[in-house]
Amino acid sequence: MSIQTNLETFRSNLTANCQLIAVSKTQPVEAIREAYDAGQRVFGENKVQELVPKYEALPKDIQWHLIGHLQSNKVKYIAPFVHLIHSIDSLKLLEEVNRQAIKVSRTINCLLQLHIATEETKFGFSEEEVTEMLASDSFGKLTNIRITGLMGMASFTQNEEQIRQEFRSLKIFFEKLKAASQPPSVTMKELSMGMSSDYKIAMEEGSTMIRVGTAIFGHRNYPA
Ligand SMILES: *Cc1c(COP(=O)(O)O)cnc(C)c1O
Repeated sequence: MSIQTNLETFRSNLTANCQLIAVSKTQPVEAIREAYDAGQRVFGENKVQELVPKYEALPKDIQWHLIGHLQSNKVKYIAPFVHLIHSIDSLKLLEEVNRQAIKVSRTINCLLQLHIATEETKFGFSEEEVTEMLASDSFGKLTNIRITGLMGMASFTQNEEQIRQEFRSLKIFFEKLKAASQPPSVTMKELSMGMSSDYKIAMEEGSTMIRVGTAIFGHRNYPA
């Protein structure tokens, strides 16, 4: 199947209010160009050192999303252009995003990554940590970031019921935050969940952004 055919299939299966983020990590610029020519404008990368050269090489109307773990010392390289950071997992990182956003006179959109999987290796906040952070004075002082929602990665398992429960609990927390009074920099509208293996379940559980790589571009040549 070609990239174009895969994209068309995905678009026709998206639920209302759900956006497709084409995850182009490890893919060459030519493959991204092919998706671009097929109309795709939203791409996700998980490494800053891969994202920056791709941003420079490709058309400027692409919206670039950073979806992988982000180190504070690399924020400055993406601050001038990144559209959305999905992987905020500490107040310290958010403070650095704010600092770099001020330098380039931008407000940077961010999602808070929640740890919903059973594996210990996945990054992210607990629900308690998010609630505490949003209520803190330090958070209230951040002028150039906007929290637009949450992101989560389900466990790597064949157990669909477990995956569904993990997505469902994230959605419940999302609705809870949405219903509560929040600082002005918080608007809960995006719920980023679902990858090639579990996007169908994620959409059924209310995802507004699925992050799909291999199901569009084919298998990656080397591990990301
Ligand atoms: C790689 C990656 C994806 C996409 O994974 P596929 O299985 O290729 O669809 C989604 N989200 C994150 C955070 C990733 O690192």
